[in-house]
Parts: sequence; C-alpha cells; structure tokens
Amino acid sequence: MEMDTLVALAKRRGFLFQSSEIYGGLNGFWDYGPLGVELKRNVREAWWRDMVTGHNELEVPPGAPSAYEMVGLDTTIIMHPQVWKCSGHYDMFCDMKVDCRESKGRYRYDQLQGRWLTCKGKRIFVATEAVGEEGLADTQRKALKFFDLRPKAAEELEWEGDLTSLAPLTAFEDVLGPDAKTLGTLTEPREFNLMFETYCGAVRDEQNKAFLRPETAQGMFVNFKNVLDSTRVKVPFGIAQMGKSFRNEITPRNFTFRSREFEQMEIEFFCHPSTSRAWYQYWRDRRFKWYTDLGLAGERLRLREHAPEELSHYSCGTADIEYAFPFLAPGDFGELEGVAHRGDFDLRSHMEGKLIRQGDQLVVELDSEGKPRYRGSGRDLSYFDDETREKYVPHVIEPSAGADRATLAFLCEAYCEDEAPDEHGKPTKRVVMRFHPRLAPVKAAVFPLVKKDGMPEVAKAIYGALKPHLAVFYDEKGAVGRRYRRQDEAGTPFCITVDGQTLDDGTVTIRDRDSLKQWRVKKEEVLDQLQDRLK
Ligand code: ATP
Repeated sequence: MEMDTLVALAKRRGFLFQSSEIYGGLNGFWDYGPLGVELKRNVREAWWRDMVTGHNELEVPPGAPSAYEMVGLDTTIIMHPQVWKCSGHYDMFCDMKVDCRESKGRYRYDQLQGRWLTCKGKRIFVATEAVGEEGLADTQRKALKFFDLRPKAAEELEWEGDLTSLAPLTAFEDVLGPDAKTLGTLTEPREFNLMFETYCGAVRDEQNKAFLRPETAQGMFVNFKNVLDSTRVKVPFGIAQMGKSFRNEITPRNFTFRSREFEQMEIEFFCHPSTSRAWYQYWRDRRFKWYTDLGLAGERLRLREHAPEELSHYSCGTADIEYAFPFLAPGDFGELEGVAHRGDFDLRSHMEGKLIRQGDQLVVELDSEGKPRYRGSGRDLSYFDDETREKYVPHVIEPSAGADRATLAFLCEAYCEDEAPDEHGKPTKRVVMRFHPRLAPVKAAVFPLVKKDGMPEVAKAIYGALKPHLAVFYDEKGAVGRRYRRQDEAGTPFCITVDGQTLDDGTVTIRDRDSLKQWRVKKEEVLDQLQDRLK
C-alpha cells in the first residue's frame, strides 16, 4: 500500500484532516474527522480498559512476578517550571538542528542523509531528507540540476556508494542542502529545545515562563505521594495517564507519526528494586501483546531491545515496540512505544534535584557555587513497606505509547484491497479497512434493501434498538452494493439488511465485512449476535 493512497482515503472518508486546512494548514498538526475521532477514542479506550479499569489486581497475570494494582490520573498540561528543570527536559530535551541560510529550511541533524559524487571535476555531498529509493532519486535529481545536466546525462555523475549520514562531516562547504541551489549554505548543528513556551499571568517575563508538557509522565511522578496517601495501593502498582503532549519538532512529517501536538498513553509502574528487571520484562511483553491482540500482527511489528550504548544515562534496559510503516524505507521500523527501566531516577530527581551520572552513580548536578543546579522539591518520595518495615525509593518501569502513532499503525494495517462482487454480481476491486472489531469506528450499519414496502420502517426500528448499545449507522441511499462498499471503506464489521423476506418471516441478513458471508437471523436476535461477535 502506498502512503498516498491511505492519506487520500483518510481525508475522503473523514479519518484525518490537516489542521487549519482552509488557511493552508499548519505543519505538524492534524485533526481527526468523524470516523477518525471514533477510531482514536477506541484505541484510547482499549488501552485504558486493558491497562487500568479491566485489570484484575487479585490475580497474577501470565508472566508477571506477582499481582499488582493500577490507578489512573489526569494531570495538567502546564506544570510548575521546576518540574522540567529537575526532570532534565529543560536542559536536555534538545535535538541538534542545522539551518539553511539560503532556503531558510531547518533540519534535524541526525536525520539528514546524502551521497558524495564527483562531476565536472568537482566533488560534492548532496543532502536529502528522503530515505531509501526516494532518497536516491532525490539526490540524483538535485545533482543533475546543480550540474545543469539533462536526465540523459546521468552517467556523468560519479556516485560514491549509498546514502550516508551527514553527521560524520566536520565542514559543510561542499554540502548541497536539501532545498538549496548553492553549496555550503548549512549552518553548524545547534541545539534546539523542543518544549513549547508560554507565560502564566499578565507579565511575559522569565519568572512567569511556563512550558506545555512534552510528555505526560512527570504528572504521575510528582503525584506519587498523593496517590499513595489517597488510596490503599501498595508497591508494586502502576499509575496510568493519557493526554496531550507537545513537542516543537524540527521536522514534523510522515502524516501523524511526528506531530507537534499529539497524545500519549503512559504508565509509570513502581516496584521494589530487587524485582525491577522481572517487571521490565513483564511490561515489555505485555505491551507487545496488546498490539498483536488488536491486530498488528506478522512481520510488520517487532520488539527491539536497545543496545547498551543507546540507553539513556539512567536506564538499565529499554525496548521499543516498532512498526514497519509504509512511508519508511524497506527494512526500517518506526517507534510505537518505548518500554524503559528507569530505576529510581525520576522520584529521586523530584526529591533531590536534577541528577547526572558520575561513574555508576546518579548524583545531584551542582552549579559553580557547589549548590544544586536545579533544586528538587525536598519532599520525601520514598516508600515505606509496613510488612517488611523497609523504606526505599521504588524503581520505575515506564511503558510510554503514542495514541496517534498507534492509531496510524492500525490504519495502515487495516488497509486492504481485494475483490468482491458488485451490485450486478461482477467481481470488482474493493477497498476494505479490516479494523479489529474493538477499534472499528462503526460496529454495524443497518440498511433497508429498498426505500419502500415498509422496509425503511423495520430497518429504523432495528437501528433504534441497537443505537443505545453500539455505534451503528443507518443508510438508505443508493444501491445496496454501494452502501456495502462505503461501510467496507469505513471498516464497519457488520451490515444488517432488511429485505422482502424480513416482512414475511421477521429475519434479516447479517453480512461479515471480511468473509463477505451473509446469514439470516431473527431481527430480535441481532443485538445478541453482534455483541457476541464483536467481543
Ligand atoms: P522519537 O525518537 O520517534 O522522536 P521518542 O523516543 O522521543 O520518539 P518518547 O519520548 O519515548 O518518544 O515518547 C513516547 C511515545 O510518544 C513514542 O513512542 C511515540 O509513540 C509518541 N511520540 C513521541 N513523539 C511524538 C510525536 N512527535 N508525534 C507523535 N507521537 C509521538
């Protein structure tokens, strides 16, 4: 499936629109349309139900070291600025970027690639943001233009191998920027903080500066004590939260994959340090299974353990759950969720102040006067186990997922083209979104075969009976074959049709989206049948 096909379908059928489209759109911002909002809500609800409200704390789940509790939170987007100073985001939440003096473009340093070539006695590096085959084609196009050659003269370009990263280059005077016409227009890489800034109150000064959260996690750490004091949870337990996060990404791209406003679904799981490795493994596997249970199967989903050199300075283990999105080069995967063993880094940071690694220890970072660079809250965020009489700072396992990336993966995975008979029985191409029934925006559609003979009245009564229980859709316009096709494109698992026989014996047909099988059931049994099959 080409990404463009999915993007077109998403717009045509109301899954996703570009934000502020009538004004030309705003890069990195996306709106969910009438079908998209239902799909994303179903993704979020499946996560919340499976991780929080549906979790049975009395049983030991398969693979877990013990039973555990889960609670939820909903914390604010704007928090005390000290939160971000102690968490490390204020200093470290940076990407390196390069600017182009000519095109005014801004690029992520680690994402720019290019190829060396020699032509007309000159050796240059042609940079591109594209990857794979597209990257090769793009660099070829740019090189031809730069050397003023026609495509026919492509053999005059002597390429030196495949696309490589720009990063090892120390000087850019021979680099042709991705949107530049002349050489050497890229600046040195500079740090760029990804946090959006705003001001609280009337005065826009440094004192009143605040940040839109770049992750939902910190709201859970700073409420750790509140949760302990207001509930009867005992370690091990998890706090879950979902909500908007904001990152001023330098190069938002690939549809909703890298947006500037997006939604996260995060868990902070607190456990005793001695069991934290086992819990890390449990959460990694549990979260992977969540995606496969909802239909992301096969070779497009993978679990990748980070190599030691890839780990953050506080982490003793991190795995990414990744999906082979169609916009990536073959063999490349994009992160859906990171599962990280974070040790006691977060709770200690909010107690003591911003931490840095010194040898194998985490210590408070000091300023030139020997005082903490960013002071912690000074609150005691340790845990007292009243059975063992032990006091300790719990370790944290963090499964951190993106609701938009998950929704995009479910959209990509669902897209399917096959053949089905049209209204005249002739096999024709069909586009069908094979969503897992839990995620499908609409669960069933109800049609009268024709708009006469009392069929609409019966169909409307069935629709009315289903509506309080399920997301259903009523349609009586046009040929029934077309109506089926529209529902296939929306990913509706079942269509219920009232026909001539319904008027005689009170049965209707149910059609299955995937197998195209149709069978008859009594109209009073439709709800039970659907609820059974949607489980
Ligand atoms: P990346 O390396 O792709 O920028 P990250 O490692 O910075 O991602 P985390 O900070 O671990 O991402 O965030 C957790 C999850 O939040 C990601 O796995 C992803 O699903 C989601 N996420 C992060 N940044 C974005 C974004 N710009 N747009 C959409 N989702 C995002």
